[in-house]
Amino acid sequence: MRLRNKPWAKDKLAAYPQYVIGNPESCKGNWQQVFENNQPIYIEVGTGKGQFITEMAKAHPTINFIGIELQESVIVSALDLAIAADISNLKLLNVNAEDLLNYFDQNEVSRVYLNFSDPWPKKRHAKRRLTYRTFLEMYETILNSDGEIHFKTDNRGLFESSLMSFSDYGMLLTYVSLDLHNSEYEGNIMTEYEEKFSKMGHPIYRSETRFRTN
Ligand code: SAM
Repeated sequence: MRLRNKPWAKDKLAAYPQYVIGNPESCKGNWQQVFENNQPIYIEVGTGKGQFITEMAKAHPTINFIGIELQESVIVSALDLAIAADISNLKLLNVNAEDLLNYFDQNEVSRVYLNFSDPWPKKRHAKRRLTYRTFLEMYETILNSDGEIHFKTDNRGLFESSLMSFSDYGMLLTYVSLDLHNSEYEGNIMTEYEEKFSKMGHPIYRSETRFRTN
């Protein structure tokens, strides 16, 4: 994602603590208290400008959504969408997903969304892919026994390497599409990248996976 310097972003994020959680370490194990209900928690890792997570939160008020994004100049756009939506089931974290275990307890999360994650095509950068084994270990820890990973991308290389990573880890593949927009899948909510790349004619790949529980 091309980054524009937004020196005001930090202050704006800090001005909306009802949406942007400033001390997420203190929420570990307590997310349902943060949301003041006991609804399931779904997270999106690499939420970007927030279109997907905001539309999901609007469409599914009985789920709590948390968008996680490393870049403050990007997540500030997600904050604008959250403010406009005026909803209580959406929070945003401006943190690195490499530290997920600092923010979520075992079994605390019911679903992880990975949408158009950075592909890191070079082999020497494979560990940075959000579907690399070390990330799967973290997702396995924080997901409950019914938890799932829903993954979308237009990048064939990333999709292939991710399916290999899921398989090598011993995960179950419960859904796969090599052309989501021409499939029978219903209820898809598009991300910013998905809109851009599908307009360019790219097929969208999608999978659902879960960890074996026996
Ligand atoms: N999901 C959005 C979409 O589909 O439009 C954004 C996709 S963009 C290619 C990937 C986003 O993931 C970037 O905004 C990037 O900053 C974020 N990201 C990459 N690695 C991350 C990490 N380790 N922790 C948090 N965010 C990360």
